Amino acid sequence: MIRASLIDRFRVPPGKKLRLKDHDSGWAQTKEMKELGKEVIKARAQEVLRVNLAELAAAQELLYANDTHSVLVVLQAMDAAGKDGTIKHVMSGVNPQGCQVFSFKKPSSEDLDHNFLWRYMKALPERGRIGIFNRSYYEDVLVVRVHPELLDRAKLPEGKRGARFWKDRYDDINSFERHLVRNGTLILKFFLNVSKAEQKSRFLDRLDDPKKHWKFSAADLAERGHWDDYMDAYEAALSATSTKWAPWYVIPADHKWVTRAIVADILTSSITDLGLRPPEVDEDQRRLLAVAREKLDDE
Ligand code: ATP
Ligand code: MG
Repeated sequence: MIRASLIDRFRVPPGKKLRLKDHDSGWAQTKEMKELGKEVIKARAQEVLRVNLAELAAAQELLYANDTHSVLVVLQAMDAAGKDGTIKHVMSGVNPQGCQVFSFKKPSSEDLDHNFLWRYMKALPERGRIGIFNRSYYEDVLVVRVHPELLDRAKLPEGKRGARFWKDRYDDINSFERHLVRNGTLILKFFLNVSKAEQKSRFLDRLDDPKKHWKFSAADLAERGHWDDYMDAYEAALSATSTKWAPWYVIPADHKWVTRAIVADILTSSITDLGLRPPEVDEDQRRLLAVAREKLDDE
């Protein structure tokens, strides 16, 4: 429903260096949108979301019926960018049986006793299902790159933290994703691109509104202090891991209605593009169906 040319602007082209400052986090993504004005764009975005939610429910049912493909949605963002709300709204119309959400926090000591992809592999969606990673293996090249001292707990053999360390991790991620795609997983990766000013205003909301106090964490404020390092880490990681088989999308996230409409649209159209049809039954099964009908008719 959103024009392909607009979606193209959000996709990070494989092999190109991403510059986040070229990506606007607001609602006016084109001159035409600006001229139409915020209220018109907002109404359109809400309509896009509504239509996509209905189509997503149908697409997910086909995914489930075919049981051949799975969908992995990776969500990454700075704090308060709207990951939770995006999951809640975009997935609101789908059958909960066909959908799994995993949120990844700091790795446990059991996690650290394995390779860095281990805990994520265990959480991958089964065939027929949509799996959402709320944070993901990308944390291992984002928060860990911003705070390399986290690697002190990772029990890596000596000599493994050399100059190629991050490039090797990107390569590992690309190979891992390629493996998944070859085996029937559709991978969609979204970076919710919130501006530093909007994050501040959302943090202030959490401080001002007693109903939102529980959402505030001092740790989030500390990470905000590393904003520029995070942006560098995101640019490097997304540039190195946006591939033909598992592209990254940079989603404007200063307005929640924008984020939700675009994510819903990309998710729905990507699943629809798999071209799944209701599974056809074979000759034997058709005979069984005819017998069943006869029996019911005779009752
Ligand atoms: P919310 O705050 O909305 O509940 P959240 O995803 O921010 O969601 P938190 O418990 O606040 O959840 O934060 C999880 C923390 O775990 C983040 O700071 C994240 O960077 C950190 N984390 C996730 N994966 C890793 C990892 N592989 N290594 C180190 N830290 C990680
Ligand atoms: Mg948090």
